Amino acid sequence: MNTTENYNSYSKWIRKIFNERVQKISVDAGFTCPNRDGSKGIGGCIYCDNITFSPNYCSNSKSITQQLDEGITFFNKKYPSQQYIAYFQNYTNTYSDLKKLEELYLEALSHEKVVGIAVSTRPDCVDNGALELLAELSKSHFVTIEFGVESTSNKTLNILNRCHSFEESKNAITKSATLGLQIGVHLILGLPDEDHSQIIGHAKELSKLPINIIKLHQLQVIKGTKLADLYFNNPDIIKLYSIEEYVDLTIDFLENLSPEIIIERFTSESPLNKVIAPKWGGLKNFEIVDKIRKRLVERNTWQGRLILSGRKT
Ligand code: SF4
Repeated sequence: MNTTENYNSYSKWIRKIFNERVQKISVDAGFTCPNRDGSKGIGGCIYCDNITFSPNYCSNSKSITQQLDEGITFFNKKYPSQQYIAYFQNYTNTYSDLKKLEELYLEALSHEKVVGIAVSTRPDCVDNGALELLAELSKSHFVTIEFGVESTSNKTLNILNRCHSFEESKNAITKSATLGLQIGVHLILGLPDEDHSQIIGHAKELSKLPINIIKLHQLQVIKGTKLADLYFNNPDIIKLYSIEEYVDLTIDFLENLSPEIIIERFTSESPLNKVIAPKWGGLKNFEIVDKIRKRLVERNTWQGRLILSGRKT
């Protein structure tokens, strides 16, 4: 981490690698999810609504190239020189046979404006073949694999109906690291049944693993999900953080997270008309990042402070 900053920021890190602004651009390759089709589970994770995180151009009725072209045309007006990472985001992006995976990843990488790929998947859905394919591609391109870890507690993972354990996350991360892959993880803050000390515990657990990047998300109750039903039947099941509380929670988390880990996101931003709770007055991601930056300075603290000082919370 740059000592003049309070946390290890993804945007600065990626700009340093490419010496240019780099934008992740979502593509929907038409994958499904083993936690929806019955091979792992049925109905999916209780909070899942993939439609909330799909931009308009992103549709599996179009080819990868067409989605990239449309997405890039949108961004190109404002940032003509920026480069792109094709983000295989929807559902489970290693859930197919190897030949198909290779074809899709290579199609994205062949786009003239694309410098790399990021592949989002479940930790229980990466066999050796998929990891070796990504490792091979990473010899000539920027490649990141992103695992939906979500929690380090198996009890919570059960409540969420994730249908995998934290041990499976650890195995997938360790195997990927052995192959030299760049690894991102997703974690949700404020899950049912998790209190402040458990959330801080996630930071400590993840700091022990060979991960490079983390994306934090606040738990959102989205219309039409099982979580929404649970919430309506028993609102107390979830602690809803105010924006100020969430900012402080995130900073408490950062203080206990290895300063080597790059922070890609602090929050999710779902369409307002789909969000039941928490409602933060339509604040955009960049506004929340700004609040976190200011609060880090106010608290005179930084990522990894409690690890480096040897203090424990
Ligand atoms: S693993 Fe991902 S895509 Fe599958 S149900 Fe869970 S959140 Fe949805």
